[in-house]
Amino acid sequence: MEPQNIYKVELHAHTDETSLCGHVPAAGQVELYLKGGYQCLVLTDHYFPDFFTKFYPGKSWDEYADMLLAGYRAAKKAAEGTALTVLLGFELRSYEGMEDFLCYGMTEEDVYRYPMICQKSVKDMCDFAHEKGWLINQAHPYRDDYAQLHPVKDPTLIDAVEVYNGTPYVHNHNELALEWARKHHVPALSGSDAHRDYGACRGGIAFPYPIYSSQALIEGIKKQDYTLLRTQDEMQY
Ligand SMILES: [Zn+2]
Ligand SMILES: [Zn+2]
Repeated sequence: MEPQNIYKVELHAHTDETSLCGHVPAAGQVELYLKGGYQCLVLTDHYFPDFFTKFYPGKSWDEYADMLLAGYRAAKKAAEGTALTVLLGFELRSYEGMEDFLCYGMTEEDVYRYPMICQKSVKDMCDFAHEKGWLINQAHPYRDDYAQLHPVKDPTLIDAVEVYNGTPYVHNHNELALEWARKHHVPALSGSDAHRDYGACRGGIAFPYPIYSSQALIEGIKKQDYTLLRTQDEMQY
């Protein structure tokens, strides 16, 4: 067998510009992922009700959209002329619960056009995403801090589930997520959930071909053309 080329794609990463919990600016993430040999970096900054109502109340939707896109835009700029493709994603949370849903396929125009999709119920938010052709990947469904208390894990609402979350300083119970994905025949994905420099390049997926657009990413995930990238969890406990 010919050795196959591998194209690494990060599916879960945050920027300091947009995520309140982010510690690495977009340009720093681009540098880390280039160094880590990734071909594609999907930024998934947080998009959740408190961002608008509690942390930054009283702005127009256009101002909010600019804020939500700030990290992605800075990363895209930093990646110009490099081998790294930067794609737009979000980590959505509905007002209804504590679960986080990674969403791929939303365009910059979509962000302006459809305000406050986090004001929908979990079901309506997922249905809306599917109507628009976006893909929903439930993030860290068994993470200790909240998800076990709010176990909305409905295989009919999601396209995929994160069975490896690389965050080194929380307990994600990745093994339970993998078990759940197998039981319900939901495609399994991996992501670093990178908030800090030492959290980068710990997860993701690898395709045998490069990914240059969200559309290609969604198709590749649906066809399950990838293998999972995982870092051994010696850093977790
Ligand atoms: Zn975060
Ligand atoms: Zn995250």
